Amino acid sequence: MKKTSKKSENRKEKEPETAGTLSECRDKKCHIHGNLKVRGRIFEGRVTKKFKDRVVIEFERMIYVRKYERYYKSKTKIHAHLPQCMENQIQLGDLITVQECRPLSKIIHFVVIKKIKSAGER
Ligand SMILES: [Zn+2]
Repeated sequence: MKKTSKKSENRKEKEPETAGTLSECRDKKCHIHGNLKVRGRIFEGRVTKKFKDRVVIEFERMIYVRKYERYYKSKTKIHAHLPQCMENQIQLGDLITVQECRPLSKIIHFVVIKKIKSAGER
């Protein structure tokens, strides 16, 4: 018997359409699938900007002023790495959690851990 069907070969072809599959994540800087360790501080914030592998989150914090015995609001911006496997989940305005990791670039030393709420929810 010789080879008769070439169909079995076709099945092996990968479908690039299935984006967002967790096993597809080949991001080295992913804390789940890559070899990135996370440690340190954790922050929650809203996504204000989204890039290919990076998001900017913003959150408010209160700072106490001793002289006036009051607080004032201050906004903090954090650039965080966005792993491949979460790229489709996270949109502008989402509430997400980031955790500190080793410095990945000049401005990035946080990585997106999980999504808490999407933009529409309150
Ligand atoms: Zn991943």
